[in-house]
Amino acid sequence: MTDTYLELVNSGLTKKLAQQLGLPRPARLRRHRPGQPLLDGPVLVLGTGPDADAVATLLSSPAGGPTAPLAADTPSVLDGWDLEVHRHATPDVRYAAVVLVLTDVAHPDDLTAPVLAAASTLKTLRPGARVVTISRPALDTDAPAVAAARQGVDGFLRSLAKELRAGGTGNGLVVAADVPVTAASVVAGLRFFLSARSAFVDGQLLEVDSDAGELPADWEQPLAGKVAVVTGAARGIGAAIADVLARDGATVVAVDVPAAGEQLAQVANRVRGTALQLDVTAADAGERILEHARARHGRLDVVVHNAGITRDKLLANMSDDKWSSVLAVNIAAQLRINEALLTSGDFVDAPRIVALASTSGIAGNRGQTNYAASKGGVIGMVRATAPLLAAFGGTANAVAPGFIETEMTARIPAVTRQVARRLNSLQQGGLPVDVAEAIAFLASPAAGGIVGRTLRVCGQNMVGR
Ligand code: NAD
Repeated sequence: MTDTYLELVNSGLTKKLAQQLGLPRPARLRRHRPGQPLLDGPVLVLGTGPDADAVATLLSSPAGGPTAPLAADTPSVLDGWDLEVHRHATPDVRYAAVVLVLTDVAHPDDLTAPVLAAASTLKTLRPGARVVTISRPALDTDAPAVAAARQGVDGFLRSLAKELRAGGTGNGLVVAADVPVTAASVVAGLRFFLSARSAFVDGQLLEVDSDAGELPADWEQPLAGKVAVVTGAARGIGAAIADVLARDGATVVAVDVPAAGEQLAQVANRVRGTALQLDVTAADAGERILEHARARHGRLDVVVHNAGITRDKLLANMSDDKWSSVLAVNIAAQLRINEALLTSGDFVDAPRIVALASTSGIAGNRGQTNYAASKGGVIGMVRATAPLLAAFGGTANAVAPGFIETEMTARIPAVTRQVARRLNSLQQGGLPVDVAEAIAFLASPAAGGIVGRTLRVCGQNMVGR
């Protein structure tokens, strides 16, 4: 499960050889460690107008309060981020991040100044640099020039993300028309994209739909006081999700099949949570999850539908069993569990559902018609489930991983695996923790304004959108 090539091109003699031969050199990505600084250098905030000013104020304010109030209704933003912020590109400064606030673009010409200012910084960006755009949805306007400018931001960002080097990423927040840039989910989304938590998220545009959500008292403990269930938690991505949710302050219920009981107990012990041996396809799985969470921890706030299986076959050779078992675990179980939670009356305090989709469910993958149908299903499911939770301040969202280094992908034949893990802008597979970080973000109270969306964690996989 280790990427030997990545290790070789980043160490000693083999690093020099790879340089001389001009081989692709995937960078070691900076990943989150509690207490580390948000960024390791200055930030350039580009764009004009009140939104750009508000973002610059947020980023530059000392911890404990900004120098100027941001907006009357955003008191919790007052815990500033204490970054060195520049409003104009200064030659020779090595920026750690560039934020382009493009909410007021009304014509493609309006992109020229901020984009060219960003361009002037690119050759000297620090390793693992972040470029983040903040813009408005093109679909929200009937004015052709405005729509062109806004849609242009998407194309620009996705292309720039492919040009960044040394583990740098480019992502964007697309903020609904009536939502201020100081809304909790914009602030938390910006922080997520700037931080090392989003190491393997690249080339993505995440929509913020409303100003719902609440910023944490402590950015290191955004899930403090929450009880979270993670299915398929005995190993792989699920175990990493349990670790990250616990690190972020949640009490975790780790769920997996009885056959994985020993590994499950280890994970539950490690995160100081509890284990629940359960096949998620059981007819009463939802009731049992809720019963366990309430009996052992008094409440249930977050459900992460992670349990999943593959049974790959070309459709011409697909058996009923291979088709049906994948659909049963990967989507039918989620639907049934959600139904039980929604009708229970006990999942009503700003609940969060986060489900595992896959880039296969978006772009399709040869030999995976069953898996892709189930994962496409997850994307549709969260879109339609989110409105059912809205009355309680709840959300449902999905994360779509690309190639992640796990036992599931270790089963792919060696050559195909080598190729598959290079086919993204970061030229490497992601780690389970990368998926877990995105899930923790979407599960947090601050992400309450992100509703029914799917965030890809794929290093900007070359397939699909
Ligand atoms: P994995 O096979 O390593 O782990 C899956 C876990 O789910 C196992 O512990 C398994 O016992 C459990 N599980 C399976 N069926 C279950 C059931 N009926 N009830 C309860 N638990 C059950 O897989 P992984 O690579 O960690 O993947 C986790 C999730 O991420 C899956 O939904 C998968 O489809 C998705 N995903 C993975 C990748 C990747 O590259 N690994 C990419 C995209 C999506």
